Amino acid sequence: MRFFDTTLRDGEQTPGVSLSPVEKLEIARKLSEIGVHVVEAGSAAASEGEREAIRLIAEDGLSAEICTYVRALRQDIDYAADLGADSVHLVIPVSDLHIEKKLRKSRDQVCAMAWEAVEYAKGRGLIVELSGEDASRADQEFVRHIFSEGVKRGADRLCFCDTVGLLTPERAAEVVPALAAIAPLSIHCHDDLGVAMANTLAALKAGATCAHVTVNGLGERAGNTPFEELVMALEVLYNVRTGIRIGEIYHLASLVSRLTKVPLATNKAIVGEMAFTHESGIHAHGVLRESSTYEPIRPEMIGRKRRIVLGKHSGTASVEAALQELSYRADKRQVAEIVSRIKKLGDEGKRVTDADLMAIAETVLGLEVSPVLTLRQFTVVSGSHVVPTASVTLMVNGKEITGASTGDGPVDAAISSLQKSVAAVGNIHLEEYHVDAITGGTEALVDVTVRLSKDGKIITSRGASTDIIMASVEAVIAGMNRLLREEDEVRS
Ligand code: MN
Repeated sequence: MRFFDTTLRDGEQTPGVSLSPVEKLEIARKLSEIGVHVVEAGSAAASEGEREAIRLIAEDGLSAEICTYVRALRQDIDYAADLGADSVHLVIPVSDLHIEKKLRKSRDQVCAMAWEAVEYAKGRGLIVELSGEDASRADQEFVRHIFSEGVKRGADRLCFCDTVGLLTPERAAEVVPALAAIAPLSIHCHDDLGVAMANTLAALKAGATCAHVTVNGLGERAGNTPFEELVMALEVLYNVRTGIRIGEIYHLASLVSRLTKVPLATNKAIVGEMAFTHESGIHAHGVLRESSTYEPIRPEMIGRKRRIVLGKHSGTASVEAALQELSYRADKRQVAEIVSRIKKLGDEGKRVTDADLMAIAETVLGLEVSPVLTLRQFTVVSGSHVVPTASVTLMVNGKEITGASTGDGPVDAAISSLQKSVAAVGNIHLEEYHVDAITGGTEALVDVTVRLSKDGKIITSRGASTDIIMASVEAVIAGMNRLLREEDEVRS
């Protein structure tokens, strides 16, 4: 079976998403490398930038087939051929609704357009995937007719598009075999009713040999069948060896999320933040003993790591594991006290960061810890005609250090001035920045959580203030203080 990835075409039609040619090339390279068979690079008729992107991708010598979306117009097909694409995804409306209301044409006129376009594209040396738009609402006899004649005129492959997500798995099983008998058939599903994955699986079972997918399920409206979910469902549930390098799946998903600026839903299957995160006491305990108890697949398979987070559902086992990882030695009574304080924090609706756990542990264990860093002064300037600039004075191991930095915004400038100031004692990266407004208004208390790393060690910490910049500074300093401590100290 084959994967036809349309992240760069249907996925880019996600409202609000727009990728530059260089960003598209970066994604296309990754798609080809991971083993996708066809990359739909874009729609040549859309814009000059789009054509530039298709040309860049087509000239890059990728092993994947490079395809572009075209209408049944010579101009579109000429663009595809001139830009160096291998194939065209030639889309023809096939439902009477689309033929009459959108195109204001007759079935005969649409057939003539489609077949002429197939012949023209073949004449220009392109592989042709003839695609029936809104096929699930079309008269299936008509779909078979337009497809069969299209194949006689040279179409290499066909595609059944469930354009608005109204297909069911049962209907797919009914209509796909007759179409798949004509020529190799792709299935293109949309997730408007949350059934895209089920429909795609049903169509593949019924004889389709290629699935149209997008990374992270991007696509018009509710999106398309998600690549990562389909690959893993086929591998794990149906024992299909897809040939996809699954260890790279999470990397690909993160890349696409970052470049499209569409965040992954935290509870998204396979690639969501919570997909391999455990908090509940019983679950976390089970996973620590034997991961298959509460994990269907090992996170390492797709390039991820398991995370145990602490909160009100945490039990003794996960707290003990976390304390051990941070080199704290606590007896039974102390662990019980730490667990109860963590639950109290969780009950207040807060996420318990590493820095919180360390502060709690140190209080309960009676450890006296003097911070590596303390803030002396902090200033930030921001406005309509200035580059956001921050300056900071810190005491670092008893020495006064002053640093300044500009940034994309005041928060960026603030964090970067802190990083610069501590560069001499440690190279600290900001991995993640998350902000929550606790109440609705502009006077709201803002809760900032950050994830910082230093030499592969990662820590989460938090700051809260009605001033978003001070909350950010507080969070970063709390995390830095933890990261800059002696790595091998025994805390008991
Ligand atoms: Mn579509």
